[in-house]
Amino acid sequence: MTAGTLTTPGIKAPGDYIEDVMQSVKAKNPAEPEFHQAVREVFDSLRLVLAKHPEYQSNRILDRIVEPERVIMFRVPWIDDQGNVQINRGFRIEMNSAIGPYKGGLRFHPSVNLGILKFLAFEQVFKNSLTTLPMGGGKGGSDFDPKGKSDNEVMRFCQSFMTELARHIGPDTDVPAGDIGVGGREIGYLFGQYKRLRNEFTGVLTGKGLNWGGSLIRPEATGYGCVYFAQEMLKSRKDSLEGKLCLVSGSGNVSQYTIEKLLDLGAKPVTVSDSNGVIYDPDGINREKLAFVLELKNVKRGRIRDYADHYKKAIFMPTDVKLEHSPLWNIKADCAFPSATQNEITARDAANLIKNGVKVVAEGANMPSTLEATKLFLDAGILYGPAKAANAGGVATSGLEMSQNSARISWTREEVDDKLHKIMIAIHRNCFETAEKYGTPGNLVNGANIAGFLKVADAMLDQGLV
Ligand code: NDP
Repeated sequence: MTAGTLTTPGIKAPGDYIEDVMQSVKAKNPAEPEFHQAVREVFDSLRLVLAKHPEYQSNRILDRIVEPERVIMFRVPWIDDQGNVQINRGFRIEMNSAIGPYKGGLRFHPSVNLGILKFLAFEQVFKNSLTTLPMGGGKGGSDFDPKGKSDNEVMRFCQSFMTELARHIGPDTDVPAGDIGVGGREIGYLFGQYKRLRNEFTGVLTGKGLNWGGSLIRPEATGYGCVYFAQEMLKSRKDSLEGKLCLVSGSGNVSQYTIEKLLDLGAKPVTVSDSNGVIYDPDGINREKLAFVLELKNVKRGRIRDYADHYKKAIFMPTDVKLEHSPLWNIKADCAFPSATQNEITARDAANLIKNGVKVVAEGANMPSTLEATKLFLDAGILYGPAKAANAGGVATSGLEMSQNSARISWTREEVDDKLHKIMIAIHRNCFETAEKYGTPGNLVNGANIAGFLKVADAMLDQGLV
């Protein structure tokens, strides 16, 4: 069904409408540059759509899609191990529920603020739409820094955070998951407190432990999915990952399982990083070295520089905050998998990657490339998989966890991996075909933004002015 249009205030040229909404986004959301950046990137693709579909303008879909349905901000008080009172700020952005309950991760990192979470929630709306599963978009978190905190401190923080959040979420309303700084430990503490407050055992969070409702492959899903996406991009040029030299940034959840799947497919990952610096291992990160990284990061919660103390041929390059580029992206390689954080690839980094002959960039992290870097990749005609498509495997598998919870069943590892793989193939095909249909073949940024948008926008039209 395509709903009837509301009163038409006079249709503008698509470019003028977009600039009007963009100005309003900047005026209403000052000091939120990451949110402006995410909106700008999507809007640039939508010019092509608005020209064909004036009903999106007459129903002011762009004005509506940039406005969160609900923003929740709250105080999170907790007591540290020394008995001191600590106060953090908690957030949940319920961005869009046109195609399903809000769904998206929680990020605990000192850099978290309203603008960063709004950019992530906005991206999530389109990403979730691409997964083919019925999930709306949301995101949340806190400026709490889990680094250097004891397990007890993390538990007390999570319990206080959930004490407020619990009243806003639910298995049919809003289903958070992990993100930076929120892994299995934090999801456990958050789930425990929700269950205690509500006296119900439901699939209110994803990324749960396997013994209490979690799905096999959920921890691996974002990294595996990103590599499956890269594989599909290469297939479109009759190429494969076999023997490819790969740069991976970060050393957390996404990076770890990106490296594991690259090894499965015969590629050679040579880097990892954290906020303190970059490891370059010219011999390649094999399974034994990957196990060392997992132990270092997930159990010891240590710093990546220890890798170079352990493996003598590896080089550690400390982060230099004065540089506006990273040495990681200046290492000669075939493929790049940015898997740490937003805007980690600047224009200079992109130029270095292109100069060194990179063929593929597949984004595991959310919005890791600046707008200038994205443009350079597109102009160079390399295979560029934007985050909302390439890293959608994580939330897709969260969707599979929700299905298993609702049906009270558990699929095997092979079943979940097979579904994840098929979803990534379908997302790639959808982006590829949409890019072609709208006259920009090979531009998966346009493909992802347009395909993700259409499903949500049509659902918004169908549901009226809400
Ligand atoms: P983790 O917390 O497990 O790991 C994050 C990694 O990135 C760490 O190595 C961390 O280093 C590094 N990092 C974080 N912030 C910065 C920063 N400001 N500067 C430099 N390095 C930084 O998070 P995930 O692996 O889960 O998430 C990584 C990215 O993937 C994020 O962009 C996230 O939004 C995205 N993503 C994650 C999904 C998931 O399922 N987990 C799903 C889809 C996207 P350090 O330890 O020093 O902080």
